[in-house]
Amino acid sequence: MSVSTPELPAAIGVDLGGTKIEATLFGSDMTARDTRRRPTPRESYADLLGALEDEVSRLRHKSGVTDLPVGIGLPGLVDAQSGVSVCANLVADGHALARDLTARIGGRVVVANDCKCFALSEACGGAGAGRARVFGLILGTGLGGGLCQDGKLVLGLNGLPGEIGHVALPAHLVARHDLPLVVCGCGRTGCMETLVSGTGMARLAKALTGRERGGPEIAAAPDEPENARILHVWSALAAELLHSLQLHIDPDCIVLGGGLSNIAGLESRLADALKAAALPSVRLPEIVKPAFGDSSGGRGAALLSLQPNERDMP
Ligand SMILES: [Zn+2]
Repeated sequence: MSVSTPELPAAIGVDLGGTKIEATLFGSDMTARDTRRRPTPRESYADLLGALEDEVSRLRHKSGVTDLPVGIGLPGLVDAQSGVSVCANLVADGHALARDLTARIGGRVVVANDCKCFALSEACGGAGAGRARVFGLILGTGLGGGLCQDGKLVLGLNGLPGEIGHVALPAHLVARHDLPLVVCGCGRTGCMETLVSGTGMARLAKALTGRERGGPEIAAAPDEPENARILHVWSALAAELLHSLQLHIDPDCIVLGGGLSNIAGLESRLADALKAAALPSVRLPEIVKPAFGDSSGGRGAALLSLQPNERDMP
């Protein structure tokens, strides 16, 4: 990918969320040149396609390049082969968005899970730059991620690599702390996401102390005894997740994202917890905060639209 001529437009990145669409024009140095937000249409798929067409057309017109490539990141699974999305909070659910938008606007359109866009953005010029194997881990409303090898997403058979929120909770910690096993959004019971995501931390707090409290409240007073206990158990659970990640993927670097990544010192807390959970004598991955934060979704989607096809739609 060429990143040497900042004055030239390179790609459009769209962060397609449940409540807002943010479309950004990136120069070839991958800095934002123009960006605009609008509410996400929720009534019909045709309205959503129309809104995306409007935003892309405006930015293509501004860039002077009528077929500028477009990358879209959305909160859901995108099948690696059919391009069909599973995204409960969007009217794109069940549709092949890249195919349908391409039919309206032409040029290259790619659609990917937003956690994977985050991972790609941080692997390419972000906090994981220079590392061969980078895992982007989102600790937000949900728990997910994406794997990049040498600056490219690893897609697999289905587009699943990184969907680690649906790994089972560790039995020994569930038993030791008498933790609840609840049904996850994926339909399985006792997934890591149910206790380790941002909403999961609130559920964990309720289970351990009888009172629900969110990450910001816990982060504001981490040494308060109940908060310290919540963070201790949460870190032990998260460390088991990182241990599994290491056994399966063995990344050089893990870049944290999502709301919980704003907790001060979380990266060193997780590094210490992983050291205790990992196999003896193994090298540990670097755990770091993101370079681009909330803007990584659109940036990663734009980067994806510039990469050669492996399978077009992760
Ligand atoms: Zn699940």
